[in-house]
Amino acid sequence: MTTLDKLIAHFERFPGIGSRQAKRFAFHLLRQDAAQIAELSSLIAELPSVMAECEGCARYFSRNGQGGLCPICASTGRDRSQLLIIEQDSDIQPVERSGYEGLYFVLGGTVPLLHQEEGRRIRGPRLKELVNGRVKDGLTEIILGFAVNPDGENTARYVEALLAPVLSGTTVKLSHLGRGLSTGSELEYADPETIKSALKNRD
Ligand SMILES: [Zn+2]
Repeated sequence: MTTLDKLIAHFERFPGIGSRQAKRFAFHLLRQDAAQIAELSSLIAELPSVMAECEGCARYFSRNGQGGLCPICASTGRDRSQLLIIEQDSDIQPVERSGYEGLYFVLGGTVPLLHQEEGRRIRGPRLKELVNGRVKDGLTEIILGFAVNPDGENTARYVEALLAPVLSGTTVKLSHLGRGLSTGSELEYADPETIKSALKNRD
């Protein structure tokens, strides 16, 4: 395998990227000057040392020399009684803009209706452990914030079943953001007003 072939193979593993696009990326790089390529490769090489996965919500954040908790999880100003479970890191920003003050957990994917085995790839065991700890620590509500589509709904059912043993016998309420969002919509692309009203009308 040539260097170019290996590079193309890497791009093909990116989410949503097919072999044609992967080739276009590789040939685009070939046309860049050496300084641009050097900057790109050093940024990629730096990633593991400058970013950390938050020990609380599991999102990636700029660690600034330390690991542990991200600024949201470490903040004393957040409402620790609420935990919003979302699919991916990029869902956080639009929800933050809506004024949500609780905490998050990034599940790291969905459990597609037709590919249930993908449930193994999400952070299920870690979520269970986190909720178990938070129940004793003032948690009163878990909000499921998944996309309003069959995969999002299946993921919600999966998480409900996963957490049922942890929540049984507790007063923690489980709600869904879903109804306030229109069908097919994903958090990542929703505007702050829509999310705000979805949070208000959660059930
Ligand atoms: Zn965090």
